[in-house]
Amino acid sequence: MSVKTTVYLEKIAAQAAEIRKRCGVAMLAVVKADAYGLGASRIATTIADIVDGFCVFSLQEAISARLWEVAKKPILALRPSPDATAEIYLDNHVRPAVSTVEEARRLKTARPLLCVDCGMQRVACPASQIDAVLSAGECDEAFTHAINLEQVKQFENLMSGRGLRLHAAGSSLLDEPSARFDAVRPGIALYRGMVKVETPLVEVRDSGKPAGYSGFTVARLGIILSGYSHGLRRGPCMVNGQRRQIMEVGMQSSYVEIGPGDRTGDSVVLLGEGLSEAEVAKAWGTSEHEALVRLSRL
Ligand SMILES: *Cc1c(COP(=O)(O)O)cnc(C)c1O
Repeated sequence: MSVKTTVYLEKIAAQAAEIRKRCGVAMLAVVKADAYGLGASRIATTIADIVDGFCVFSLQEAISARLWEVAKKPILALRPSPDATAEIYLDNHVRPAVSTVEEARRLKTARPLLCVDCGMQRVACPASQIDAVLSAGECDEAFTHAINLEQVKQFENLMSGRGLRLHAAGSSLLDEPSARFDAVRPGIALYRGMVKVETPLVEVRDSGKPAGYSGFTVARLGIILSGYSHGLRRGPCMVNGQRRQIMEVGMQSSYVEIGPGDRTGDSVVLLGEGLSEAEVAKAWGTSEHEALVRLSRL
């Protein structure tokens, strides 16, 4: 395809090492959704010696990325797969997170972790069921997906005195010592600023009159071969070092506002070179996570 994605693997390794050092506890790197589109296998290979383990969403993700083969570090699946047996988890060196007595019982020999609900209200165990699930799964580790310090506190209160290994923090709470417990689970903090996504101008013209479906007007426009069917949206981009706008997104191509010196073949940078996930996310009205995963998969 015409989109080129460059992943700065050495920078990701340096970032992982920095986070590991800053937090001072074990680090389980989140490589779900193919490491947010960056490639779980190559990310895991790159940071295997720095991290203490990996988190995937499902067992299947760990298998397709060959996570154990490439990194030989413990793997946690954040959600159990309904039809996978404990043996399949064990064979692939993946421990499932469980949140019901039924799951805990069924997956006990795969050493499940308890996932506790402190407000997220999805795939997690309510306070009233914690004891039952812990004992059904003989769990020695529990976590929550906390998004603020109240939830961390709630988790601490629910879990204290049980002698379990605990974790709660993703990227947004890395700098909160009270959220660290025994491990942190960063995802986006490892990947932001680590990718460049670019695609060439395949057509350019001086315009000055209404163009496209929406009838936008710019002095000069260019076409790129990426559209909403690939996941692109209207927003900022960079052309030859200048901040520009994607004016209209079509099914498989889009219009870019360009300057007088911009030519066919010049690169339109959709992420990177100073254009951050946060900036794209703001223009799109979404999260950095969504901006990154959409752009890295274009
Ligand atoms: C996705 C996820 C994370 C990582 O989130 P980031 O904001 O990308 O750091 C951590 N924990 C759980 C349970 C998750 O689902």
